Amino acid sequence: MSSTTKCTKVKCPQCGKSVEWKPESKYRPFCSDRCRLIDLGAWAAEEHKIAGSSQFDDFMSESLDNPEHY
Ligand SMILES: [Zn+2]
Repeated sequence: MSSTTKCTKVKCPQCGKSVEWKPESKYRPFCSDRCRLIDLGAWAAEEHKIAGSSQFDDFMSESLDNPEHY
């Protein structure tokens, strides 16, 4: 297997834009600092939700059980 070591490209997990996987791309796998921060923010929000309110979660699934109520 003769590896064609061109530039490896990955897709930004946030916006799907292709990012060159190289030292210069310091926000990889994200295309930019912005996308990286958005992803980190999403993570933080997720953790907050899990740690936060199971009561609210119950409420949510309850309303999902009654589709007529929709
Ligand atoms: Zn992006």
